Amino acid sequence: MKYNIAVIKGDGIGPSVVEQAMLVLDRVGEIYGHEFEYHEVLAGGCSIDEYGKPLTQETLDVCKDSDAVLLGAVGGPKWDSQPSDNRPERALLGLRKGLGLFANLRPAMIFDELADACPLKQELVEGGIDLVIVRELIGGIYFGERGSRETPMGPAAYDIEQYSEGEVRRIAKIAFDMAMKRRKKVTSVDKANVLDSSRLWRRVVEEVAQDYPEVELNHFYVDNAAMQIVRNPKQFDVILTSNLFGDILSDEASQVTGSIGMLPSASLGEGSFGMYEPIHGSAPDIAGQDKANPMATILSAAMMLRYTFGLGKEADAIENAVKHVLKDGVRTGDIAKPGEKISGTVETGRLIAEAVK
Ligand code: NAD
Repeated sequence: MKYNIAVIKGDGIGPSVVEQAMLVLDRVGEIYGHEFEYHEVLAGGCSIDEYGKPLTQETLDVCKDSDAVLLGAVGGPKWDSQPSDNRPERALLGLRKGLGLFANLRPAMIFDELADACPLKQELVEGGIDLVIVRELIGGIYFGERGSRETPMGPAAYDIEQYSEGEVRRIAKIAFDMAMKRRKKVTSVDKANVLDSSRLWRRVVEEVAQDYPEVELNHFYVDNAAMQIVRNPKQFDVILTSNLFGDILSDEASQVTGSIGMLPSASLGEGSFGMYEPIHGSAPDIAGQDKANPMATILSAAMMLRYTFGLGKEADAIENAVKHVLKDGVRTGDIAKPGEKISGTVETGRLIAEAVK
């Protein structure tokens, strides 16, 4: 089979980690008889440099014409002085909205080999953390009405949090479907004790739950959820939440697992199309030094094979290759213990590609 992948390498460490993911995909292609055709386009800071804006219509069109998008990361201090609507990160919002990617899936799991990278007490994580955050991605306060106005206390700015029943229903279905393939538990996170938008969220989630009698549903207020993720992370299977709360909780959950350089993500819309990217940013502090951990991007490519191309066996092969090199003691700087040998980005990618069976 031939698959078309739009590739956005982005800024900072983006290009180097994406190149390693492409190497691993090519190896999968060789072994399993698939052809991955890459269409490279710009977005983020490099697009500002080339075209004056972070996202062009051409980039969006190439993505739309592809089966999936593989993205590195965008942004960096070079573009800090850009006006807010022309910053590199705007490209991400434009891609999500333009491609209709309303669901963000962020698994957070601990690899046995890295258990001691977890900052929590061992008894809290024994037996493993394995949760996935399903975050609504193109609604809520990040896309709501915004503006400024005069108030008796001086000029004020506002952003509106709004969710429609349809927006909540479609993301809730993704979470319940995911739970059916996992341990059949959904925790919906909101702030229904204060916000009307959260009360609507909770009502619709309960309606959707009626169609999934096998799935256990509970609700947490976001402040309690933030506490429970560090207090008892093993209780979670699927966490379903809004754009704003999901942004914050998914970073918290990623830290609980040890390294930001290990965690992949998928952004999905209707149908099988998806955009796949590591959860980390462009890490300007280590860009160009062969220090970045490419595993999060490589694992994002595995998610692409599983969710967009339906290639479960091939996705397993990538995940097993990552586990294999970890077992062999391959460590980038972010996951190495003091005194351990450190592998560079390129060497790590090569070893993972070689370990694909
Ligand atoms: P970051 O994730 O880039 O870096 C945070 C820390 O983690 C840094 O110390 C970095 O060196 C380290 N790190 C990140 N990825 C790593 C990897 N693969 N291997 C080893 N170490 C890694 O977050 P930041 O510093 O807050 O942001 C830097 C830039 O990235 C900003 O411009 C920000 O807006 C942007 N950003 C982009 C995305 C995205 O493209 N999806 C996401 C988050 C941040």
